[in-house]
Amino acid sequence: MIDAARKLAFKMISYGGLGALAKPLVGGVGAILMLHRVTESPEAAEGPNRGLVIAPQFLDALIGEMKRMGCSFVSMDEAVGRLRSGSNRGQFAAITADDGYRDNMTEALPVLESHSAPITIYVAPGLTSGDVAPWWEALDGLVAAGRPLAVKLSDGEMRFDCSTAKGRTDAFRHLSNHLTGQVREEDQAAVLHGWAAMAGYDASSPGRALLMNWDEIRRIAAHPLVTIGAHTVHHYNLKRLSKEAAIQEMYRSRSMIEAEIGKAPQHFAYPYGNPAAAGQRESELAREAGYRSAVTTRHGVLLPEHVQHLHALPRLSVNGRHQDIVTMRAMLTGATTLLANRGKRLVTV
Ligand SMILES: [Zn+2]
Repeated sequence: MIDAARKLAFKMISYGGLGALAKPLVGGVGAILMLHRVTESPEAAEGPNRGLVIAPQFLDALIGEMKRMGCSFVSMDEAVGRLRSGSNRGQFAAITADDGYRDNMTEALPVLESHSAPITIYVAPGLTSGDVAPWWEALDGLVAAGRPLAVKLSDGEMRFDCSTAKGRTDAFRHLSNHLTGQVREEDQAAVLHGWAAMAGYDASSPGRALLMNWDEIRRIAAHPLVTIGAHTVHHYNLKRLSKEAAIQEMYRSRSMIEAEIGKAPQHFAYPYGNPAAAGQRESELAREAGYRSAVTTRHGVLLPEHVQHLHALPRLSVNGRHQDIVTMRAMLTGATTLLANRGKRLVTV
């Protein structure tokens, strides 16, 4: 849906006019950008997670362009403050990054420093300590290892030939669907490690290689441009948990981060953040847990009305598959918000 909206918006903007027309109508007061990885040298440029990776040069160009459009870059505290005060100080943007990838520190931060642009990094203590493997990276690594896989899924045993690109794509799709749809969130890690063991693969190695550890999180948290937010403890899909377990993930991630960095996070990001993972119940729980804001991965710009929905804030994904300024301009006009949400201006959960 977002892809189709992007293509359409791209065409409309290219043919001229809609962007300029739409801006005062639906452009909104600001936007929250969502990043994951920022690196010049991704390990698997063609892998299933390539949408999660942008180049530092693109981040640099995007921030520069948005500044020329009149956007000021603010922290999540300031973004919430501006929504609350109904400030008329022009459009603002907050940059966020999920999961705590190490390249946020080594490759994104220098770009952000050169623009004095703040960032909020949402951290899941389980991922940071290495107790939980980022399954999407581990699965990518497992299939990329190229060994044949024979796994028992819901409709019986399936065999994948991971020596071919098609086999790897098939394997990633089936295994990720099984893991996120058929297996209980609490059992995901065990199932993943079981598959990896069968293929002689260490499922915890991608997490160690790609994500910041606590020493690094402490270091980056001390940077004046950086805010650390919470992203649950185990990176669970909250909608698949009981209410009690879901709110415990919110409380515990905050206290665990506070114990490590000496400061309790005030902002929260729902893992996955899509309609299957975060809804009305989750946004009420995030409010109840005392977070000042919570972000989803729904596609949308911020409107003044979001002051009533601070725990259901949409974002604009800066997607590695579409690293071009024209697409981002289209998103910032708010045109793609309408296209991706069936004409709805105010995107919440
Ligand atoms: Zn995440």
